[in-house]
Amino acid sequence: MLFGDIIGYAKEKKALLNEVKEGRISHAQLFLGPEGSAKLPLAIAFSGYLLCENPGPNDACGKCPGCQKISSLVHPDLHFAFPVVLSATEKIACSDDRRSEWNNLILKNPYFDLNTWQEYLDERGKNAVIGVEESRSILQKLSLKSYSGKYKIMIIWLPERMNNSAANKLLKMLEEPPEQTLFFLLSDSIENMLPTIISRTQLLKIAPFETDDIARYLETKFAVDKTVSYSVAGLAQGNMVEAIQMVSGDENQHIYFDLFVKMMRTAYAANAFELMSLSDELAALEKEQQKNFIKYGLHLFRESVILNYMKGELVNLRNEERAFLEKFARFINNHNISELNEEFNEAFYHLERNASAKILFTDLVIKLTKLIKKGV
Ligand SMILES: [Zn+2]
Repeated sequence: MLFGDIIGYAKEKKALLNEVKEGRISHAQLFLGPEGSAKLPLAIAFSGYLLCENPGPNDACGKCPGCQKISSLVHPDLHFAFPVVLSATEKIACSDDRRSEWNNLILKNPYFDLNTWQEYLDERGKNAVIGVEESRSILQKLSLKSYSGKYKIMIIWLPERMNNSAANKLLKMLEEPPEQTLFFLLSDSIENMLPTIISRTQLLKIAPFETDDIARYLETKFAVDKTVSYSVAGLAQGNMVEAIQMVSGDENQHIYFDLFVKMMRTAYAANAFELMSLSDELAALEKEQQKNFIKYGLHLFRESVILNYMKGELVNLRNEERAFLEKFARFINNHNISELNEEFNEAFYHLERNASAKILFTDLVIKLTKLIKKGV
């Protein structure tokens, strides 16, 4: 993984390269950026740059033995710690026990979030943590001498998943770092991190992806055409993981569209029988799909408003969506848009907290029936 392999992110790459040029590489750095941003690829590329035997001004050479070991993720000075589902029966106690799966996933596709990682392991919905055994393993790895004579680098993916004792042990290490050691902490959100850890790190903010960059990546990696790539990129709102899921699981997109159309028609016609069958259908989806459907609905509301008030130039829509919204968007307007958004956001909130999907969707469609009337 070189900087050149990562699309976009000119500002972040420059900031990292400047640390080297100016000789002020901080021993603990916090890469803070939303889900679906390029934190992990950037941290690996930066590690590769630091471990390269013949680095250029803007990127590692890509050819030396160090670079070759980085590209297959087997460099002995590059270490990872990440959340795993602990299991005594399967003998899973720390990242090392999942390291081969971890490497395989990154080599297949470096853009993933915790959900995708757990799906990959077939452990969706289970509690993945960085436990206390991990801190022992980190300490042991960093007590070894550097193999290359350069840095020993520890990338901690999602430090917010550390339990308390692991976090406290990490804090100790940050306070008294082992020699020639760099810690890169890659976090989606600092909400659940110890403030004392945060204050020990140098912050590097990682932006969401640019829409253009997502579209270009989808076109080259997934061979989708321009209309689809831009529609998906707009929908993903800077989240590469979501964008990839949309193009690789495209059938879901059609399911959401069909359900949305059905939902709006049912609400418009206020048909009680249809309403019951629709909420059954929605309740039968998987939890993640239900949440994605709600997000998709919010997207189409937003695009409807743009279509109504801005003559549609800025609209991110696929053909079938545009055809439907050209007729339907006029019912979404300033008489009901804020309430519609509110109800969908509320539904999302309750789905995340395991509300009964059947009750929730029935309730939502009944409310929609009233809200659509307000817009007529
Ligand atoms: Zn090199």
